[in-house]
Amino acid sequence: MDVLERINYLKDEINKSNYEYYVNENPYLTDFEYDKLFSELKEIEEKYPMFRTPDSPTQRVGSVSEKFLPYKHKYRLYSLDNSYNSEDLEKWYERVCKEYNKELDLVCELKIDGLAIALTYENGIFKRGVTRGDGVTGEDITQNLKTIKAVPLKLFEPVNLEVRGEIYMPKSSFEKLNQEALENGEKVFANPRNAASGSLRQLDSTVTAKRDLSMFTYTAIFEDEKDKKYKTHYDSIMRLKELGFKVNPNIRQVKNIKGVIDYCNEWDTKRFDLDYATDGVVIKVNDIAIQKDLGYTARAPKWATAFKFPPEQVSTKLLDIELNTGKTGVVTPVAVLEPVLLAGSTVSRASLHNFDEIKRLDIRIGDNVLIMKAAEIIPKVVKVVESDEHSSLKEYVPPLNCPACGAVLTEKEGQVGLYCSNPNCESLMCAKIEYWASKEAMDIDKVGPSLISQLYDKKMISNFADLYKLLPQDFMMLDLIQEKSAMNIYTSIQESKTRPLNRLLTGLGIRHVGKETADILAGEFSSIEALKTATLEQLSAVEGIGEIIAQSIYDYFHDENNLKLLCELSELGINPVEKASAKSDKLAGKTFVLTGTLENMTRDEASALIKSHGGKTSSSVSKNTSYVLAGANAGSKLDKAQNLGVIILTENDFLEMIEEKE
Ligand SMILES: [Zn+2]
Repeated sequence: MDVLERINYLKDEINKSNYEYYVNENPYLTDFEYDKLFSELKEIEEKYPMFRTPDSPTQRVGSVSEKFLPYKHKYRLYSLDNSYNSEDLEKWYERVCKEYNKELDLVCELKIDGLAIALTYENGIFKRGVTRGDGVTGEDITQNLKTIKAVPLKLFEPVNLEVRGEIYMPKSSFEKLNQEALENGEKVFANPRNAASGSLRQLDSTVTAKRDLSMFTYTAIFEDEKDKKYKTHYDSIMRLKELGFKVNPNIRQVKNIKGVIDYCNEWDTKRFDLDYATDGVVIKVNDIAIQKDLGYTARAPKWATAFKFPPEQVSTKLLDIELNTGKTGVVTPVAVLEPVLLAGSTVSRASLHNFDEIKRLDIRIGDNVLIMKAAEIIPKVVKVVESDEHSSLKEYVPPLNCPACGAVLTEKEGQVGLYCSNPNCESLMCAKIEYWASKEAMDIDKVGPSLISQLYDKKMISNFADLYKLLPQDFMMLDLIQEKSAMNIYTSIQESKTRPLNRLLTGLGIRHVGKETADILAGEFSSIEALKTATLEQLSAVEGIGEIIAQSIYDYFHDENNLKLLCELSELGINPVEKASAKSDKLAGKTFVLTGTLENMTRDEASALIKSHGGKTSSSVSKNTSYVLAGANAGSKLDKAQNLGVIILTENDFLEMIEEKE
């Protein structure tokens, strides 16, 4: 036997074994036999590289690409119109049959929840695999597809064609992959489709090769004359099988729409027994001549429709209702469930929204509840499954106390839910410190939620003033913080000491005082001292500050704890004073609205400049607006200004205006 003959023999044996195993799910060689043939082939190919061809099973190994290149499809991939119930299906069928005055044969196929791809074969050799993309252009992922054993590298006949298929990850492999990820502390995939997509879109195809992916093919576009003889869709699929492709065994020819409805009902329940996710049924007119005659709308074939199964729901036992105090102080209930498989993943927790919802649905601990998952959203409890036990279970009583600190829970006017009443509640305190450090307030960019909660847990801070007392070495006591980043955190905190008054006022988190109101306050009162001594009348006299806000500000600056905190801040060197006198009064009586992104200054700086020249700023455009200062990407405010005939200034106009008047 000469070398080439031996190579061909080995390739055929291995390909046949792959086909039997991955397509027919029928092992033909033992692992041992397979490995033996495979290493022999590899060895010969290494010795005689000129005989190594792209269709060799040894070429199923990965390689690394920089990025996926776009590829324009030879034949456009259309979408499918969706049907959601039997009426939709009947209407579609009526429309299709009308022109022919007879019932048309149909084919039902399970719609695999994976990734659509188009594969090109030339003379029976796999040439190219492209993702669906937008249907016109996709991405060339040939190298990755080659690693999937259900994608034949060489067909049983040297034919030319394009096939469409769906790449999917079996549910069992998905579970295993996520299990491993959990054990390694890695990110888990939400569902098998995401796992398949994530695995397929690896630039390093050795990663793809390690993942258990498979494929079903469901469309053939034959390019050889002899294959154009197939008159029905069903026969063309059987031809694909004959050529070596994996096709879904649950394909069925039916005589009319009644057969389709039966098929859909049957698989609505049976689908859960499959080892792959399916989210519906694709129904096609079987006769290819009629398909051609019916043609396409702009986006979908008229001769096909997709029936979507209703969202997957399962029932399981509600073991407990867990309570979490969120950062705003709101307490949310979470269902703790007996673990159950739902839409391809194990679910042990679900959302209950709020206590009103629990009451409305009369959910009791111990009930069997129906849970649902739509797409990748967190599962939620839909309703209680009626049972005899339900009435014997205890009615659920919402908590009276905060699970974080034990304080009494209260309702907030106009809000759903229960809130912790303790202003010093741990979760609330953390939220306050986060707000202080946030971009719109003191802008301490190195201090985020996780750092704050670590510092808080270690009792290193109890309010935002404490941040300024920390030294670089203090941060090094936290997890994963090295000297350099400790120094950066320290510097970023210390630098924030010089932020202007409006930012400090925002950061204090005074009720009803957001950024806008803080700006107004800082414009009217030059310092914290001035605000401490302001009377209620003085406060409510300020334009843009109503009675309720004025009262809230007044109360804040007359609360003992707050005064203590402000005093502390001042001692730490945080006590900004706005320049008492304006640069000029040249913009006196003028109201500006800022919109878009300015080039040479931030909007804050522009506001300060306007104020220092006696002008005012406002957040919305009205007929009282004197000027709109518009930067790049200005939005609706600009449109409104144009409609009202308000003068629009560019940044340069504005700067000139100030200079000119100075
Ligand atoms: Zn609390």
